[in-house]
Amino acid sequence: MNLRSLPDRKPFLTAALALVALAALAAVAISAEPRAKELFGARKLPAVAPAQSFGFYSKGCFTGGVALPMDGPTWEVMRPSRNRRWGHPAMIALIEKLSRDAVADGWPGLLVGDVSQPRGGPMMTGHASHQIGLDADIWLTPMPRRPLTMAQRESMSATLMVDEKTHLVKDALWTPQHTRLLKRAASYPEVERILVNPGIKKKLCDTVTGDRSWLRKIRPFWGHDYHFHMRIGCQPGSPFCKAQETTPDDDGCGKPLAWWFTEEPWRPNKNPDAPKARDLLTMANLPKQCLDVVNAPDAPSLEAVTYHGGSAAAVAVAEPQPTGPAETISSGNAAMPAAESAFAPTPKIGIPLPRPRPGN
Ligand SMILES: [Zn+2]
Repeated sequence: MNLRSLPDRKPFLTAALALVALAALAAVAISAEPRAKELFGARKLPAVAPAQSFGFYSKGCFTGGVALPMDGPTWEVMRPSRNRRWGHPAMIALIEKLSRDAVADGWPGLLVGDVSQPRGGPMMTGHASHQIGLDADIWLTPMPRRPLTMAQRESMSATLMVDEKTHLVKDALWTPQHTRLLKRAASYPEVERILVNPGIKKKLCDTVTGDRSWLRKIRPFWGHDYHFHMRIGCQPGSPFCKAQETTPDDDGCGKPLAWWFTEEPWRPNKNPDAPKARDLLTMANLPKQCLDVVNAPDAPSLEAVTYHGGSAAAVAVAEPQPTGPAETISSGNAAMPAAESAFAPTPKIGIPLPRPRPGN
């Protein structure tokens, strides 16, 4: 560098430095825009409002969430510290129903994995979906006979049902009860899809006899080798919930499944460090209602928003449900405080009635 030219360069350098500083400031401003996952991950309780899903399974949020109780006679919540046992009341009611039906079918009880965060939205870790309260992961490990302690629920490892190399189910582990559990879950009309590892799908394709119509809902996907993922459709009262494509009208055991047993789906990720969608989503990327959802006041207490619709105690205290026209029910709800109408116990048999959002 020629020292003599320095004085001439100074203005240029100053300007360049100023530009660098400006660019750095802009970068800070961009990165300072909070990620949606941080805002949603920070909320410990749901928003007080009638149950409603906004947006899509992988880009949305929901109000009126209720918690699956940590324990029930036929289920236990796993990894409780994650605080992901929240869902649309219809989802939570369905998990409880599946747990009862599964026990009746001979499965010892459900170990329930992640459902959603209290208000849904993207998560700090795991899952692209599970954002609108309509997805739930259920372990393929049966509930042990002895109740699990909270510490065991955090640490107990799940049973991997699929060989990582062959992508085939480990035959020593698969039982007819596993098949029955999946069939039961697929039997509910509100369940639109069940995601399982391709090896599990293949096992069902190869072994299910008689009624195979339910196989249509069983969809192969990466992972899902120790749990299955149950997804229900948009619920009544959620006009801004975006439905997914319907599944093709066959058992899905043909060509699309064969693809999973080629080398292509298992090629190593070329760019493993690329940020995932959930790491980039800001509030501006989510449906506009989600800003209100994430900022809304908390429900009054955890107990007020814990679902007891399926428990004997709640059924005992529940008022007989009116059977008249729907307007009788909604005008009754309109007179109640929002919190009460949103979290009123739901009768054991029913999915909650659609509750119109006030002002919509
Ligand atoms: Zn899942």
